[in-house]
Amino acid sequence: MIYLDHNATTPLHPRVLDAMLPYLRERFGNPSSPYRLGREAYAAVNRARRRIAEFLGAMPDEIVFTSGGTEADNLALRGVTRALFKSGNHLVTSTIEHHAVLKTFGDLEALGHRVTYLPVDPHGIVDAAALRDSLAPETILVSVMLANNETGVIQPVDEIVAIARERGVLVHTDAVQAAGKLSLRLHALGVDLASFSAHKICGPKGVGALYVRRGTPLAPLFTGGSHEDGTRAGTENVAGIVGFAEALAVACEAQDEQIARLGRLRDTLEGEIRARLDDVIVNGGQAPRVANTSNISFKGVEGESIVLQLDLAGIFVSTGSACTTGDPEPSHVLLGMGVDPLAAKGAIRFSLGPTTTNEDVAFTAPRVVDAVRRLRALSSLGERL
Ligand code: PLP
Repeated sequence: MIYLDHNATTPLHPRVLDAMLPYLRERFGNPSSPYRLGREAYAAVNRARRRIAEFLGAMPDEIVFTSGGTEADNLALRGVTRALFKSGNHLVTSTIEHHAVLKTFGDLEALGHRVTYLPVDPHGIVDAAALRDSLAPETILVSVMLANNETGVIQPVDEIVAIARERGVLVHTDAVQAAGKLSLRLHALGVDLASFSAHKICGPKGVGALYVRRGTPLAPLFTGGSHEDGTRAGTENVAGIVGFAEALAVACEAQDEQIARLGRLRDTLEGEIRARLDDVIVNGGQAPRVANTSNISFKGVEGESIVLQLDLAGIFVSTGSACTTGDPEPSHVLLGMGVDPLAAKGAIRFSLGPTTTNEDVAFTAPRVVDAVRRLRALSSLGERL
């Protein structure tokens, strides 16, 4: 099996599993319990919080644990709009956000907020200058992702922060696909809120975090206990949180080496495919990208068909976001970049990870070429019949 869908999810790192197991077995206490078993769990959660804050360039009290990236995005967007509802109702985002962000903005629009969607250029980069024109006295929040999950294109969040700051507008970034792939110093970046998810970095599913810069107004989503300083009620996922911190440690320790290695492998994969097939476009290929991601359109074929052909060869890739699998519509990210709808339907996302080897890429490239050739031959046969 060759797994090239690390932007969808990743395998648990053995160090992460080892770190988690005691908290699933003997150290199973509730962090809110006053006796030793509870205090141990509470200490583990806070140790993880300190480690995560350090890796991200933040303070421990700025890390709020959630059930993953989707909840972190919802908490940021809904939490700020609720906390600032008296200050204004205008929000700004981009057309290429993950559905966890876009659909939340759609819901906020239905509730009466006004949302501006910033366009992206043909390379998949959000037009930061358009932000300046969109800002109004009633703008309260801008949300632009750090790295796109489909193309890997890195967004100009620093420029966005600079423009928003001038006008006193808060900035959220979905950093789910950036953690472990870019070096992140949240205080230096200057964002007010940032979302993270453990399962994208060889941690467990169902756990993530929202970074909330000190002093940022935020209303909780859930009512209940006073966990996470009242920001997120619900008994903490202790083992998950411990695993998240360990996963981030592993990712950060190996980050520079992985970026260089995966960048080389990604370039080899793209080079082999482009050398042997015509009508291939690397979407976002001219933009700064995270090293592990490659989004390639093969004209004249359906991405879904390539996925199925590669599956038969034991290679797992996707057509885009895992959350849109089964959706017949072409990717909103590629359409937003102005990619022709037919080319968008023929797109495949390869996302490499720490366990991807030279051999994996050497095995995959010719199988992609064969699959595309076969599918193109079939479709031209179909046209002739
Ligand atoms: N944001 C981005 C950019 C993502 O890629 C994902 C996962 O696909 C999410 C948010 C959602 O994260 P989770 O699966 O932890 O809810």
